Parts: sequence; structure tokens; C-alpha cells
Amino acid sequence: MSDSDEIAERKMRFLFALRSKGVTDKRVLAAMEKIDRGPFVRGLFAERAYEDTPLPIACGQTISQPSVVGLMTQALAVTPRDKVLEVGTGSGYQAAILSQLARRVYTVDRHRRLVREAAALFASLDLNNIIAMTSDGSFGLPDQAPFDRIIVTAAAEDPPGPLLAQLKIGGIMVLPVGRSDAVQSLIKVTRSENGFDYEELRPVRFVPLLEGLGKDT
Ligand code: SAH
Repeated sequence: MSDSDEIAERKMRFLFALRSKGVTDKRVLAAMEKIDRGPFVRGLFAERAYEDTPLPIACGQTISQPSVVGLMTQALAVTPRDKVLEVGTGSGYQAAILSQLARRVYTVDRHRRLVREAAALFASLDLNNIIAMTSDGSFGLPDQAPFDRIIVTAAAEDPPGPLLAQLKIGGIMVLPVGRSDAVQSLIKVTRSENGFDYEELRPVRFVPLLEGLGKDT
């Protein structure tokens, strides 16, 4: 098989795995077809970038499983006018997918190194509508609030109050909640005039949402 045949087949298998796990939204699938996961996985694990599995990245963190990225993105129902906040930049992969669907993506991580590396990748891929910053995302980004959509890719026991407060009326937030040593629930929070509606989507496992900045800073 030629290299290009191999790449085409790998891509087909990748998209098939997403569809078979429930990622059916055409815009989400198109974004995930366009953004190559390869560059977001480095070192030892790079050759497994196209498997539907979470993988280790720097700072003891993980890049999420592609089907979970797809399902979370789908649940977030992003529109082209949206200003989105992601808490937990990690590799930058989820933010890169969101950049294809939203007007602007703010992504924050408590590890300066992860933010620096992700920002360099965004620049090299010409993803110019992503703004990456080092900060403790449990407090959101008050200066840029409110947001149309918020996605959290680390698990808290409950949805952080500042993030709920920074969600627009009509806005959606998707996040894993539950203890870090247990199976967590992915939930979708919708803000209406009257308050917040909560919908439980599926069991998931994420690294914990931690306080303060990482030690590498
Ligand atoms: N979305 C990422 C996966 C993130 S893993 C991707 O696509 O690769 C979870 C990330 O959340 C880790 O990088 C971790 O450093 C970060 N994190 C944990 N607690 C945080 C906090 N309070 N504020 C900001 N980032 C946090």
C-alpha cells in the first residue's frame, strides 16, 4: 500500500470509529476529519494518534479519547457566532476542533508548558481564532465573559460556580462531574431565563480539575 493509501485508510477507520460511537453531527465529523490528531500527540505515543483511545501528554495529563471529544463537541451544539471557553487545554486538540465550529475559542490550562506548546501548534496550523492562556480555569475568564458555550475537560465534583455565572442565558456548558477516583458523569448544563437545566449524558473518566497553577510555571 502506498503512503497516501495508508493515510486515507487510517482516516476512514478513525471516522468510522467516531460514527460507531455516536458522533453523527456532520459539522463535528468534518472538523475532526480536517484536524489531524497526529501533531497533538508527541513522542512515544505518536504512532497511536489515530486510535480511539486517550493517550499521555506532557505534565502527567492526557489527550482525550477522540470519540469523547466528538460527543462533547456535539453536545455543545456550537454555532459559527459563538464565543467558547475551554477549561483544560492539554494538547490543544479539543480547542482545535472547536476552532472550526466557533467564532472564537478561549482555552486555558494551569500548566504553562501545555499552553505554550498548544499555542505554537495553533500558530503552525493557522488556527488564528484560538486564544490560549495560563490560568486556573475554575474561575473562568471574567474579562472575556459571558460565553455562549463552555466546555470543561477535567472533572470537578460539581460545576464550578464562576463558570455557571459566566454562561450566557441560552448558553450551554458540557463538563464531567464526579470524584476523580471514580467514574464521572458527563453532563450538559443549559442556562435559561429561569435558571439551569442539567442533563446527564454518559459515564466518562477525566483527570481532576485542580486548584492553582501547575508546578512547571
Ligand atoms: N482538552 C485536552 C485534554 C485535557 S486533559 C485535549 O484536547 O488534549 C485536562 C487538562 O486540564 C490538563 O491539561 C490539566 O492541566 C488541566 N486542568 C486541570 N485543572 C485545571 C484548572 N483548574 N484550570 C485549568 N486547567 C486545568
